[in-house]
Amino acid sequence: MKNQGIGSWLRRRLAKSGDKAAIVFVDRTTTYRELYERSEQLASALAARGVGPGGRVAYFGENHSAFLDTMFAAASMGAIFVPLNSRLAAPEIAYALADSGATVLIHPEAVGAVAAVAVRGSGVTHRIIVEDAPGATASTTPVGVIDPGSDAGPVPAIVVEQFDDVVASGVVDPVDIVITLDDPAIILYTSGTTGMPKGALLSHGNLTWNSINVLVDYDYATTDVALMISPLFHVASLGMGLLPALLKGATVVLEPRFDPARVLQLIEEHRITNISGVPTTFQMLCEHPDWASADISSLKTLTCGGSAVPLRVLDAYEQRGLGFSGGYGMTESSPGVTSLSADRSREKAGSAGLPHFFTDMRIVDADGQDVTAGEVGEILVQGPNVIREYWNRPEANAEAFTDATWLRTGDMGYTDVDGFLFIADRIKDMIISGGENIYPVQVEAVIRELDAVADVAVIGVPDERWGEVPVAIVTVRAGHAVTEDTVQEHLRGRIARYKTPKRVIVVDEMPRTASGKVRKADLRATFGA
Ligand code: ATP
Ligand code: MG
Repeated sequence: MKNQGIGSWLRRRLAKSGDKAAIVFVDRTTTYRELYERSEQLASALAARGVGPGGRVAYFGENHSAFLDTMFAAASMGAIFVPLNSRLAAPEIAYALADSGATVLIHPEAVGAVAAVAVRGSGVTHRIIVEDAPGATASTTPVGVIDPGSDAGPVPAIVVEQFDDVVASGVVDPVDIVITLDDPAIILYTSGTTGMPKGALLSHGNLTWNSINVLVDYDYATTDVALMISPLFHVASLGMGLLPALLKGATVVLEPRFDPARVLQLIEEHRITNISGVPTTFQMLCEHPDWASADISSLKTLTCGGSAVPLRVLDAYEQRGLGFSGGYGMTESSPGVTSLSADRSREKAGSAGLPHFFTDMRIVDADGQDVTAGEVGEILVQGPNVIREYWNRPEANAEAFTDATWLRTGDMGYTDVDGFLFIADRIKDMIISGGENIYPVQVEAVIRELDAVADVAVIGVPDERWGEVPVAIVTVRAGHAVTEDTVQEHLRGRIARYKTPKRVIVVDEMPRTASGKVRKADLRATFGA
């Protein structure tokens, strides 16, 4: 049998369109053939540094063409790729390196200080430094402190090399290795919103089937030029943007980071057809002074994840004939579960859409029985894009995979009569007050209508009489003020009395994960008493 994994995509592409541009990274174009050759070369260099099938190779940093080289090198030799969030601090990187058992860490120079600290005491034997893309700024992430423990032995020496030298030391001599769709390809850490990040073990098949789902449900063509401005270590950009585009043989324009003026230029210059991002990305684009004069006529598909696109942003794009697709997903499903196409986004406003083509979904009550349309329950998912296990996490496995084939997502939601999914909230964040369920997301949405509110999180705190009561934690927009009364006044008549927060607490800053999600567990620990 031949290699069937994602590492074989480049070789399979050669005869069809090997000389086509695969990636444009900061104005340097790499064809599919060059990407294939470079990743084979890197694979042989990694093998010479002790990486074998099943070994782990980590990448830490902003978007860079080296991310793709590393991912495909690992995939073609049967090793497991471990992409890490560039905003993590050293102790968090150290945790992921130790947990995954990575022996090689590849990173751009800009995050060198964090990386050098993080590898101490981990199992990393080789640290490989990539030349920064032009304009890279040194990481502002706190380097942090790693305490190796008083009885730790001497720190083993770590070989430090330059990426280009390492690649040059390899040979383009593809190993003929059998890789099946069931073999592991990537350990991708979840955001850590509800606890310590969990390593989702994504197989070659999971990633392939998610890409097929995307290609079936979205309008992708080989002639497309997809702009990647979100970090590739997020499953949304990796799974919904990069991999489907490369499977299709399209061209990817990869940017180290998001700069609205440059994005508007790139759209014109490369005739960009697809962009995926989060609401703020799209808002910053349409609020940029160059927006009105930019030629964006090539754009076809805009995909927006994270949360709903504000109405005025929707309007700004609609005036130029563009709509947004969105969806619901998670690291564990590589990541697509449902998608809402742009043409139905007004009709089904607030919905996360219909399940992807090869993915199935059920909504069940606490006893595991299917609920009827309109009734809220836990969302279960199944499909060839859904992982079978977390790396190294027996308790999390026992919790999520209670059934052999369905993954418990920990999210609550309901479907309408047409089967469109509406997300209610996470089970762990749900508040039960006097026997009534309160979904904080709903209360937060109403409080967020207040102009003065920058952000809000509603949590449940213990209460003798009601079991739990809701409390709102608010941050305030500069130059504004928020009082308990203004919030209560606004909520009156808009939501039920029992859902109205009993206290409103103003804080300077919300505790957040590296991907920007509010850590409600931390808020409950601080304000729960
Ligand atoms: P952890 O699993 O470590 O607690 P996390 O769940 O935030 O972190 P991710 O895999 O990055 O890690 O995020 C997936 C989660 O994001 C989903 O389970 C869901 O709670 C939330 N989510 C994703 N898409 C949507 C959406 N369209 N609407 C509401 N919530 C969403
Ligand atoms: Mg999760």
